[in-house]
Amino acid sequence: MGDLSKIQCDYAALANPGVRALHPYMPGKPIEELERELGISGIVKLASNENPLGPSSLALQAVQASMSEWARYPDGNGFALKQKLSQRYGISPSLITLGNGSNDVLDLIVRAYAGTHSEVVFSQYAFAVYALSTQAAGARAVVTPAQDWGHDLDAMAAAITENTALVFIANPNNPTGTWLTDAQIRAFLCSVPEHVIVVLDEAYAEYLEADEYPDGIALLSEFPNLIVTRTFSKAWGLAGLRVGYSVSCEPIANMLNRVRHPFNVNSAALVAACAALDDDAYLAKGCRVNREGLAQLERGLENLGLAYIPSVGNFICFDTGREGGDVYEALLRQGVIVRPVANYGMPAHLRVSVGLAEENQRFLDALAEVI
Ligand SMILES: *Cc1c(COP(=O)(O)O)cnc(C)c1O
Repeated sequence: MGDLSKIQCDYAALANPGVRALHPYMPGKPIEELERELGISGIVKLASNENPLGPSSLALQAVQASMSEWARYPDGNGFALKQKLSQRYGISPSLITLGNGSNDVLDLIVRAYAGTHSEVVFSQYAFAVYALSTQAAGARAVVTPAQDWGHDLDAMAAAITENTALVFIANPNNPTGTWLTDAQIRAFLCSVPEHVIVVLDEAYAEYLEADEYPDGIALLSEFPNLIVTRTFSKAWGLAGLRVGYSVSCEPIANMLNRVRHPFNVNSAALVAACAALDDDAYLAKGCRVNREGLAQLERGLENLGLAYIPSVGNFICFDTGREGGDVYEALLRQGVIVRPVANYGMPAHLRVSVGLAEENQRFLDALAEVI
């Protein structure tokens, strides 16, 4: 290895301008890292909207039974998983694009449809990956002001120009937990020109039961410019394996498939996702635990006199009434990891994921201590 201090060339400056301007995504702090730092154990992590139940036992068993195949490449077409999804949602497998998490699919969409002359519209406080992928592609981000922390669809529609390639809508949105109704989404889609592709990110779809909540997949037959993305990371409990997908019209799916890396979803993820889809009891339990946990957190925050943004996800954002980063640090010292959202322009808020009842209580007790 040569002496790196003698590097003459500015390799950072050689990167594409969009890449140089990127702010890296900030993941939640891993439990192991905090345990090392504080020298304590029994840390509660409520920072990344992970499923507190752990994976479905069906998924674990299926992965174990398939491990002997790991010397082989995965099925690059994800045949079995697409079959399962197509049966579950009553759609043709040819409409499905699989990704290494839905983040991967979001990035495929930007790479396939946005370039240096394109504009990409999304809301203030929207999920961070939209800005990241847009910048990396050298496209221009058009960020519309939020309304009550949520997406202002009128403002988003008004921001569309002939250069708009994509619109991203997270429903519900992360980190705010805000959501849009079926009527609102429909009205928006009706107002969008057909050359503009609308991405409806439904990472938390499985948690929502309200009849009012739009089922993006059901809207696809009416709006060919719609792409719906979903994930196995949240309600299906497989965040660590990285598997998500989009559903779109076939021409769009074909284009996404061209930019997709050939083996973007690994064998364990494919097998686990297939098995998880058979475990509706797991999904139902997760939804119940989430509903009860969300109510527990709301009550607890109210008792502490802290305002929160109503959420339908598996997380909730609350106003600390002070510098959120300070409260975050103080909670860390109590062994509770939550998520600062200052990088979203919300310096006084923190986001906490819904955990098991005892984890939620640990968080509320620590918060009471800290506040
Ligand atoms: C968690 C989340 C995702 C999912 O990411 P994966 O890559 O599938 O793990 C996508 N969109 C939003 C809004 C999310 O909160």
